[in-house]
Amino acid sequence: MAASAGASSWSGSSGGSNSSQGRSIATAQPPQEERLVVAVRVRPSMEATERCIEVVSGGSLLYDDGGKSRPRQYSYDHVFRENDSQEQVYKTTTAPLVRDVLNGLNAAVFAYGATGSGKTHTMLGPVPRKKPQTSDRAPPTASCDSTDVSSQDIGLMVRAIEDIFSHIESADADSCRVSISYLEIYNELIRDLLNPGGPLELREDHRGQRITVAGLSEITTSSRKEVVSLLLKGNKARTMEPTAANQTSSRSHALLSIMVQARTPLGTKQGRLFLTDLAGSERAKKTKNRGKRLQEGAHINRSLLALGNVINGLSGGARYVNYRDSKLTRLLKEALSGRCKTVMIAHVAPESKHRDETKNTLVYADRANSITTKLQNSV
Ligand code: ADP
Ligand code: MG
Repeated sequence: MAASAGASSWSGSSGGSNSSQGRSIATAQPPQEERLVVAVRVRPSMEATERCIEVVSGGSLLYDDGGKSRPRQYSYDHVFRENDSQEQVYKTTTAPLVRDVLNGLNAAVFAYGATGSGKTHTMLGPVPRKKPQTSDRAPPTASCDSTDVSSQDIGLMVRAIEDIFSHIESADADSCRVSISYLEIYNELIRDLLNPGGPLELREDHRGQRITVAGLSEITTSSRKEVVSLLLKGNKARTMEPTAANQTSSRSHALLSIMVQARTPLGTKQGRLFLTDLAGSERAKKTKNRGKRLQEGAHINRSLLALGNVINGLSGGARYVNYRDSKLTRLLKEALSGRCKTVMIAHVAPESKHRDETKNTLVYADRANSITTKLQNSV
């Protein structure tokens, strides 16, 4: 394992087209138009109650606003039903991106939705409940702590790591390097989850193109077990607090970056996969939060609003899109504005008591569905 903590590059411009090792190769192909892929995942109902959502096919669902008007149909690239497995979600959304990353492209997956809608379950798998007295030392549940990929609950982050290593091991392992960094944005402050400490600063070059996080550790390793255990360690460092909506609510946005570098006869090929578990998108009113929780909620809502504004701007074909309103949008700029294949997995709860949040998420995802980005190959 090699750890470095310089100005760790977050941006795909260093991930996708340059290389810190060997000679990098300029793109030979013109940029392709690439639409942001949007999937909606409906989590299993927690209680036998009225529902506001029915999945009608693998690409559409019906939303019922409680009888005020006729159920409305929404269509997306993929709609996952309540009993669809983690493996199905991985294979449909993330596995194709892993192949792109191994070919030197950048790619991103982000999980969006209200607290309790299933984002962390998708990205990580089941999260242990926080026990106040032993919380920080409590061992994770077997499925979270395990490197056993046969466990059906394991989430996209570990599956992606396993997949990347399987591809590398079946190719020429010696010519590949995998590095990870993992950060959270909590109350608009960036924290290193692999080496928790004080807040880190975002830096960008004079053209505002290349974003770096000063002091963020980037750990290079050739061991898949080590990457998985680093990820699990990072998850334990994540800020999670119970809210009215979810006992193990993630109050931060967590961004994992997996960089793969491969030496080829033509030079070094470098791709980066960004996996993002966003904090909950619900309105503060619903969470009945006060004090610290309310302040967290305000930061979360502001950054998700900034992300929504970016999505609105991009989907409406705006000539100028403002990424500067939050750290989240500055870090995700590369993923959303091009040179990167991006998948958004919007999460919804089916119970009718979550109707308003579900509608907000469906509309947000609907707008995201029309975003087109430009994709550039690095080799
Ligand atoms: P979020 O991260 O959006 O706040 P969680 O991922 O913590 O939500 O999910 C809330 C609860 O629902 C957790 O107990 C989680 O295990 C459960 N859950 C969510 N999605 C699924 C799913 N697809 N299958 C089984 N349980 C799920
Ligand atoms: Mg969560």
